Amino acid sequence: MGFLSVLTMAHRWVAERAEPGSIVVDATAGGGVDTLFLARTIGPGGHVYAFDVQEAALELTRERLDAEAAAVAAANAQGSERQPASPGRRGGLAPVTLLHAGHERMAELIAPEHHGRVRAVMFNLGYLPAEGSDRDVMTRPETTLGAMNAALGLLAPRGVLTAVVYPGHDGGDLEAAAVGEWTAALPASVAQTVLYRFPQKPDAPYLLALEKR
Ligand code: SAH
Repeated sequence: MGFLSVLTMAHRWVAERAEPGSIVVDATAGGGVDTLFLARTIGPGGHVYAFDVQEAALELTRERLDAEAAAVAAANAQGSERQPASPGRRGGLAPVTLLHAGHERMAELIAPEHHGRVRAVMFNLGYLPAEGSDRDVMTRPETTLGAMNAALGLLAPRGVLTAVVYPGHDGGDLEAAAVGEWTAALPASVAQTVLYRFPQKPDAPYLLALEKR
C-alpha cells in the first residue's frame, strides 16, 4: 500500500485543522488542485484566498472551480427530483478570492478582519507544470520566505502552514534548503515544525509543515 504521497499528506494535515467555515490560503494556486481541495474542505461558510503571479494559473484554477461547482449543482438538482426534502446533500464550495499577485503581499491583500484567524496556508513551490506554461516563472527563496513569515503572522493558534518543495528542479534545491533552514530555526515557542520525506528518493518532492502555537 505504501505511505501517503506528499500532496495527500499535506491535504490530511490541513483537513485535520481547517474545519468547515475556516479562512484559508492557497499561496501558489498553480493548476488549482489545492484551491479546490481547500474550497471543498471548508465549504460555503468559509473563505479561500488563492495567489498566483501568472494569469494562466488563475485561469486554470477558475476553470477547475467552475467545473466542480457545475457538477455539484447538477448532482443536487438530480437528487432533489427524487428527494425534495434533503437539500445540499453534496457539499458546496467556499467562495474563493483569486489574487493576481505575489504571495509575499498576503498581509496587505488579506482582509484585516481575517488576520490571526487563518487556519491553513498551503504552498506548492516551483513552476507550473502545465503544457505551454512559462517555466521561468517559478517561486524564489526570498519571496517564498517573505510570504512564509507573513503567513505565520496571519495564522490562528494551531493553524497550519504546508510547503511542498522540489529539490530535483533547477533552483528548487536551494529553495528547498532555504525553507528547511527557516523551519529548523523557528523557536518552538512560535511553532512546531515537521518534515515528511522519502529518503530513498533524494530528488523527489518533500513536505515541510508547521503548526503555530
Ligand atoms: N511544482 C508544482 C506546481 C507548483 S505551481 C508541481 O510540479 O505540481 C507554482 C505556482 O507558483 C506557479 O503557478 C507560479 O506561477 C506561482 N508563483 C511563482 N511565484 C509566485 C509568487 N511570488 N507568488 C505567488 N505565486 C507564485
